[in-house]
Amino acid sequence: MNRPNPKGRTRPILLVALGGNALIRKGQSGTVEEQFENLAVPISRIARLSKEFRIIITHGNGPQVGHLLLQQECCGEIPRLPLEILVAQTQGQIGYMIESTLDNELTRLEEEHQQLIVTVLTYVLVDENDPGFSTPTKPIGPVLGEDCVVANLAYPAVKTARGVRRVVASPRPVTIIEKREIKRLISMGFIVIACGGGGIPVVRHGRAFHGVDAVIDKDLASAKLAEEVGADILIIATDVEGVALAYGEPGERFLRRIGTEEGKRYLREGHFAPGSMGPKVEAALQFIESGGRRALICSIDSIQRALDGNAGTEIVRG
Ligand code: ADP
Ligand code: MG
Repeated sequence: MNRPNPKGRTRPILLVALGGNALIRKGQSGTVEEQFENLAVPISRIARLSKEFRIIITHGNGPQVGHLLLQQECCGEIPRLPLEILVAQTQGQIGYMIESTLDNELTRLEEEHQQLIVTVLTYVLVDENDPGFSTPTKPIGPVLGEDCVVANLAYPAVKTARGVRRVVASPRPVTIIEKREIKRLISMGFIVIACGGGGIPVVRHGRAFHGVDAVIDKDLASAKLAEEVGADILIIATDVEGVALAYGEPGERFLRRIGTEEGKRYLREGHFAPGSMGPKVEAALQFIESGGRRALICSIDSIQRALDGNAGTEIVRG
């Protein structure tokens, strides 16, 4: 039951990846009110786009999963939960915020036909021999004081591009376990929220899955999901206007278009920080090379303008 668009064609599939850092902006402490407020603009754009596209929303969880980790470290009396459980919790909390905001916005917009929305708890398979397990690279949680650098924690605090933060293992996504369910839901006309926080990381032992202590990069997981469900367009929405060369330096220059070969060269040359812009560019390249039509990296408030070609960075074939 693909709901045809007004011209009678099946609507293309648009996957929007919302940055966890864009939901808690620089300088904010990350209250629920702030997160709902930060969601208002991107969700109102996505609601409008749902008339033209079949929508999948994925989201990051870097700040939020780090907050949960700190909260439980503050309490010695209750058993600690492993990271995989904290990732599952963030799929619930952020999924709820996105779903309820979108539901309200669609109710406001729709005349007679309310679109259906569902948040899917998503596992993502990783390889237990992934080198990501031996070197933690993924920053989570708030920026800590300069004196907080500690190497001998379960999750060390190290200097990152933003400041001192906890870092955790971040293996690469191999496949999205619920891809068939998500594809089916999309074809039935649901707006699907999935792959939150990069997905709950699992390894396979025989026929069973087991959770592992890691946080998968949500951009790489989103590109994998986009590829596996045959999405047409991938939009990575974050807290900067696009991809820059010499980012944060005097010669900083934002790029409007990057060819795939050029993008690979910039990646090799180290223009994009690992754990932040690096995986976004890599995800966009991977999506275009796997046959995706368009890949855009833009600010969370300029999704529509980026689609119109007036904002953000587009990664193009060639
Ligand atoms: P998200 O939660 O949206 O995934 P990230 O913090 O992971 O956000 O990635 C976005 C950040 O990438 C920006 O806030 C910026 O500080 C950083 N960044 C690193 N290198 C670059 C670059 N070359 N161009 C633009 N932003 C960059
Ligand atoms: Mg990120």
